[in-house]
Amino acid sequence: MIPDFWLGRPYYSLDAYCKKRFQGKVYKIALDAGLTCPNRDGTLDHRGCIFCSSGGSGDFAVKPMDSVASQLQTGQAMFGKKKTGNLFIAYFQAYTNTYGKPEYLEQIYEEALKQPQIVGISIATRPDCLPTPVLELLSSLQSRYPEKEIWVELGLQTIHESTARYIRRGYDLSVFENAVYELNRRHLPVVVHVILGLPYETPEMILETITYLNRFSIFGIKLQLLHVLKNTDLAEEYAEGKFQVLTREEYMDLLILCLQNLSPTTVVHRLTGDGPKEILIAPLWSLYKRDFFNSLHKRLRETGEYQGQNYKITEDSFFG
Ligand code: SF4
Repeated sequence: MIPDFWLGRPYYSLDAYCKKRFQGKVYKIALDAGLTCPNRDGTLDHRGCIFCSSGGSGDFAVKPMDSVASQLQTGQAMFGKKKTGNLFIAYFQAYTNTYGKPEYLEQIYEEALKQPQIVGISIATRPDCLPTPVLELLSSLQSRYPEKEIWVELGLQTIHESTARYIRRGYDLSVFENAVYELNRRHLPVVVHVILGLPYETPEMILETITYLNRFSIFGIKLQLLHVLKNTDLAEEYAEGKFQVLTREEYMDLLILCLQNLSPTTVVHRLTGDGPKEILIAPLWSLYKRDFFNSLHKRLRETGEYQGQNYKITEDSFFG
């Protein structure tokens, strides 16, 4: 029932994927490549998504003022102390990492891809920021570095238009569908970000997002707990009592529901998300991540619940 290559976990973790693909433990180094985002520079809005911190959701980037090569060096030195592996994914995390001139993007991606210990790059972006020259660049890099992986992470968060408007996402679902189509046809793996616990979303609505994603060819998913961070508009709404954050128990139930309904071939890249403690307002239980994971794994062991348990193959997959 649970494949051996999941390495004993009841879900297909990124760790298991990397151990099989790269024959070793792989760490991610979060980068800030000095880009911005159309939701912040005024192209679409100045305010950003309602939950986004001033760091552009890249608050863990190492020394953001440095070059990509230098940030990678710092990151490798930090992880080097762990002595459990020396392979890395360069994670272009902060802001929108395809929102720049293709020449500049090529330079920063190659700074990472050229390094022998970097086994791949993961590029966080928006589906409305993938013009043809950028898609062609990614395709060309994949041909030039066939032994490395190039993942594109799309911040979808939800399929529901009412929520998308509330969080000021700034594009509609057809834009996402077109981006996945363009990435799929260039064989560029897609990772989708989904936030659990967005205001006014019910568990049924979240499940609809998961079952919708099952209809695509998606390499990975990040299931992220909604964090309320300081100096965001979401923090004001929270202070005014307009919504509640999820309790630890509610989140665990919701997460397991999502896993049970998720395609078993989708790699789970994240199960909680990190809210930097200096700016995290709620939920504070999320600071105890290890404790949460221990409880999650214990519960999954005891109940026998696993990824894909309730997954149904649908006839109406996108793009045939
Ligand atoms: S698209 Fe990303 S970087 Fe831009 S405002 Fe939204 S969360 Fe922040």
